[in-house]
Amino acid sequence: MTPAKKAKKKIEEKIFIPQEKLNEVLERLSKHFRVWVPVLSSSSNGWTVEFRPFTIESEPFFTRQSTMPPKSVILPQGETLFQYEYVKNSDDPSKQDLILKETINAEKTLVFGARPCDVRGFVICDWVFLRGLYLDVYYKSRRENTLFATLVCQDADDACFCSSVGGGPGDMEGSDIRITSTSEGFVLEGLNDRAKEVISLCECDPPSEEQSRDAQRIQEEAKNRIIGSLDVSGSVEAVKGQFQNMGVWRDIAESCLSCGVCTYVCPTCYCFTITDEIQGLKGERLRSWDSCMFHQYTQEASGHNPRPTKLERYRNRLGHKFCYFPLRYGGVIACCGCGRCIRSCPVSIDIRSAVERVKEVHSNACVCS
Ligand code: SF4
Ligand code: SF4
Repeated sequence: MTPAKKAKKKIEEKIFIPQEKLNEVLERLSKHFRVWVPVLSSSSNGWTVEFRPFTIESEPFFTRQSTMPPKSVILPQGETLFQYEYVKNSDDPSKQDLILKETINAEKTLVFGARPCDVRGFVICDWVFLRGLYLDVYYKSRRENTLFATLVCQDADDACFCSSVGGGPGDMEGSDIRITSTSEGFVLEGLNDRAKEVISLCECDPPSEEQSRDAQRIQEEAKNRIIGSLDVSGSVEAVKGQFQNMGVWRDIAESCLSCGVCTYVCPTCYCFTITDEIQGLKGERLRSWDSCMFHQYTQEASGHNPRPTKLERYRNRLGHKFCYFPLRYGGVIACCGCGRCIRSCPVSIDIRSAVERVKEVHSNACVCS
């Protein structure tokens, strides 16, 4: 008698992870992917929620939007682009050869528990790094190797306005897996072929009928919820029309401290600077985040600065997101409505009020002229 073949476990497209099993499942996934989860950390200055690589000690925290988006998973705050070394040419000692060493390191990655607005941030950045004039191979390799398991958002607060900029709490554009958090655990649904490996590695059962019904109700509620009431129509014309009206920019940004936190917490701010660090004949080319809200960002070698005051810099930040980017990329607004810049600004500058103010001044100017 031939031994019975071990039955191959069917890959479920929908599974249920009981709350108490979550860390066990994430640990299993960590053997195949670098798994990032939002975790809460507290200090004497308060608390923050940040995406960190999962370890068995991690306590994933899903009940508030993370303080920092998972931007650094694809666009690290600092990275080595390549290393180099000058060596004497053995045939002609008056010459030097340059040896370059590539450092692209895109391991298989899973971001577990991002919000729809976080993923939308990458969908927006793709226009620049993947579809623009230049292809960024570092961004591309990480983007291709990263999967997003995205949480249906049930925790919007007063600063959120994702529905005003094309997203929403149930939006799954750019995501591979939908996570719906229910009272007993998490329903995971694969949204494309890439998800199959993750779903299968979880080794979990499909949800019961009741768990499925629960998840569906939560998804429906999220789909029907409108978060935010900013009307972005006409923002392109308003920014162009009020570009030279420094009065309106003063009204908006006079209190700005140029601290740059709004750009650091923003999923769609991607400015970077490039520097070389050299020791002897060896060196590294580094890329690190920069901020258009900093005075030196646009300072030229001659000392001239085309954006000398915070007013021009704030105008640029708002203009980039609501005017220049949509003009260049087929109407896409470069803001995912996550509200982080509003929550983080130490002087309470609110980008929604700023857009509304520019539009209001522009429409009044149009009526009068
Ligand atoms: S967070 Fe506020 S104060 Fe700081 S640079 Fe941005 S707008 Fe200015
Ligand atoms: S501009 Fe503000 S609300 Fe818009 S994506 Fe950036 S941080 Fe979020």
